[in-house]
Amino acid sequence: IGFIGSGVTLLIRKLKKSGGQARRQFRTILAGIVATFSLLLLFNFLFPAFLGNPRFLPLGAVFFIPYIFATFYAITRHNLFNIKVISTEILVLALAIATLLEVILSTDLPTLILRTSTFLLVLAFGIVLIRNIIREIKQRETLELLTEKLAAANEELKKLDVAKSEFISIASHQLRAPLTVIKGYVSMILENSFGVITEKAQRTLEIVAGSANQLIGLVGSLLNLSRIEAGKINYALKENNFENLVTSVIEEFKQNAIKRRITLAFQNPTRPIPPLIFDAEKIREVIINLIDNAIKYSPEGSSVVITEEIKTKTIGKNTVRFSVKDQGIGIKPEDVSRLFTKFTRTIEAQKTDPNGMGIGLYFVKRVVEDHGGAVGATSEGAGKGSTFFVELPIRHQN
Ligand code: ADP
Repeated sequence: IGFIGSGVTLLIRKLKKSGGQARRQFRTILAGIVATFSLLLLFNFLFPAFLGNPRFLPLGAVFFIPYIFATFYAITRHNLFNIKVISTEILVLALAIATLLEVILSTDLPTLILRTSTFLLVLAFGIVLIRNIIREIKQRETLELLTEKLAAANEELKKLDVAKSEFISIASHQLRAPLTVIKGYVSMILENSFGVITEKAQRTLEIVAGSANQLIGLVGSLLNLSRIEAGKINYALKENNFENLVTSVIEEFKQNAIKRRITLAFQNPTRPIPPLIFDAEKIREVIINLIDNAIKYSPEGSSVVITEEIKTKTIGKNTVRFSVKDQGIGIKPEDVSRLFTKFTRTIEAQKTDPNGMGIGLYFVKRVVEDHGGAVGATSEGAGKGSTFFVELPIRHQN
């Protein structure tokens, strides 16, 4: 009992200290030992010694089965004893003994020389073989350890990512309310709701209003990003008039375009656009993003042309393509495919407008694709203008 007790204690201590495969090995062996010795103690000691019942004594050998089975399982499943090395060692040893015996039993010199060289060769190759296997096993163990560490690190990163998204979401929600208040009061002051203000104050407040608008846009982008990351964009899909939506957005941008001396032209579609099914609020943001970018990344005095046309089966279905063509900074061919990923901004864009975040197009792509549509951009190169387009599927055709 003393031996068993100390053996089990030792195993438990090792089990606590170990991890990964070693832990699984110890656990299996411990289970086998505890099962076997509990049976033995009960039936081969307590029963005959204290209850006068010797009936189970002949089963002593059977009680060893759990232990043998656990050991077998630990060897085959959990690589206990590195069975590969041991079997190779046994094989090499057997070969070495056999060839050595032949050396001893040699009767003439040539045979002795031949057999001695065979023996030495077997020994040398055997040692190399065993070393290789040991190295391979060590490599595997290191790899397993690294994989476990990597998996843990990955888990940690995922948690951090979730925490980051939550932080962005909370921060932007809390930023939005005070910003809206600022914007509201500033516009009331500008409209002289609290009395007539001086021209100087007017100009200053216009700058404040501009900055507040910029911040609201930024917070909106962050909120959109956190919604995408959390997979929480809800769409209110219904039949809408796409053309009306586009013209109303263009109307909103008129002032902005005039300020930058940019002509904003809308080409009427050649064929009537059928009603489409989409979330008006989200698609409105999509249109705003594209027109806003075109104005933002174009030089003063240039023009932006907006078109709508029906396309047949460009993405396997009939669609309405909405395009915004500008004469602005353009895009280098190698940058085109990256634009719709998050935080991507070209060097030219960073120079033109250092404040952007590179989230707008990422949001555009996600929303349009969620509608079953597609996005794209073309440009002849840097400085040569660009065209951005989105396509929305036509589901109800007359
Ligand atoms: P942001 O404008 O805040 O940088 P977007 O996601 O809207 O973010 O755009 C991503 C990038 O795509 C821009 O930084 C710019 O490099 C490029 N881009 C978008 N629109 C245009 C455009 N009309 N002309 C040239 N480059 C553009």
